[in-house]
Amino acid sequence: NYEVLFAGRSNVGKSSIIRGITGKNVKVGKRPGVTLKPTHIRNSDLVVTDLPGFGFMSGVKDRKQDIVKDQIVRYIEQNADRISIAVLVIDGAVFLDVVKRWEERNEIPIDIELFELFRELGVDTILAVNKTDKIKDSELNETLDGICDKLGMLPPWKQWLDSVAPVCAKKGDLKSLKALIRQRLHAAKRDDLF
Ligand code: GDP
Repeated sequence: NYEVLFAGRSNVGKSSIIRGITGKNVKVGKRPGVTLKPTHIRNSDLVVTDLPGFGFMSGVKDRKQDIVKDQIVRYIEQNADRISIAVLVIDGAVFLDVVKRWEERNEIPIDIELFELFRELGVDTILAVNKTDKIKDSELNETLDGICDKLGMLPPWKQWLDSVAPVCAKKGDLKSLKALIRQRLHAAKRDDLF
């Protein structure tokens, strides 16, 4: 099996990206932010795993959010050996503001914690920066530099083209992400899967 794991805050466009990549709708009949179990989409030996979204969950208490986070972390730790690629999806238009809010409360955003966890566990990680349509062209480079910096990747972001994929699921522009996933499948001699 070749497992590609998708993680991300609720509402960043994770389902839209998975739909764009696999052609399968992962959100059918799911209430956003409430599903706790990872969902698997199988396509012969390729398994795409959709972790529950975290953060923004209206009507969901903080404690529940902690439970979701613990479940996500446990899943990653227990399955790290099998996970071939992790894709962390963020909303590029709001990521830096969200990080700032957490930092003002002396907290580390869950996205950043997960990215560091993947790194510690040696999981090959791709950062999918979604909703690029909501970022002004003139601010795109600066925004991507800031995002990379927060995740421990020294700017300029273009140094990290092997790991960072700016995308726009809304317009179906997922070329950069597909290319990075394909690159890994090719390296693993599993091009047949995608
Ligand atoms: P998830 O909660 O992370 O699975 O996010 P969804 O895929 O359900 O998307 C959340 C919202 O963001 C929906 O209203 C989508 O239409 C919207 N969305 C997804 N991708 C994009 C994008 O690239 N640009 C914009 N502007 N909106 C997007």
